[in-house]
Amino acid sequence: MNIILLGPPGAGKGTQAKFLSSVFGLVKLSTGDMLREAMGEGSELGKKVQKIVDSGDLVSDDVMIEMILERISRPDCSVGFILDGFPRTLNQAEALDRVIKKKNIELSHVIELAVKTNILINRIKNRVSETPNDQRRNDDDEQTLTHRLKVYEDQTAPILPHYEKLGLLRTVDGMLSEVEVSNQISEILVPER
Ligand code: AMP
Repeated sequence: MNIILLGPPGAGKGTQAKFLSSVFGLVKLSTGDMLREAMGEGSELGKKVQKIVDSGDLVSDDVMIEMILERISRPDCSVGFILDGFPRTLNQAEALDRVIKKKNIELSHVIELAVKTNILINRIKNRVSETPNDQRRNDDDEQTLTHRLKVYEDQTAPILPHYEKLGLLRTVDGMLSEVEVSNQISEILVPER
């Protein structure tokens, strides 16, 4: 089973990816985590992307496509994977289509977590007030989030129709409780007979 989780920043993709990884044994691939790891290590890649990530813009398609293609080619992904944070542009989605076709990998579902903008902004405000400064992501403040939401609308939301055309898109109400969202996703992955 190979899954893509889509949705705006703060929709709960990371939380649900963790849940799916523990319940279904899938490998969680978060491009945001990979970039933060590179930045934390101070690697060449990390230095190159730091400013872009901190500003809430998207890292270039070339860098991201190379990163994810290398990762999904590793043997551990053969048990199935969950993509959290990739693809984020139509270009990335098309590159992924090509590689999975070439590798004979089947995409099982694309799950969109839908959350209204005002709720996302409230969530981030709470997160900012609850998290000590030294533990907070540099891109986790209200102003950057507002920019990231616009980036999502402009560059990422246009890939939803792409997956809808392929018959893979399922939308879950991301404003339900965390457990309820997990239940609904499980129901999509393993429908009750
Ligand atoms: P995330 O943790 O998924 O919210 O990602 C944090 C940041 O990493 C984003 O705001 C982007 O700057 C960058 N990023 C993560 N995934 C991608 C991607 N697929 N394409 C471009 N930039 C990305």
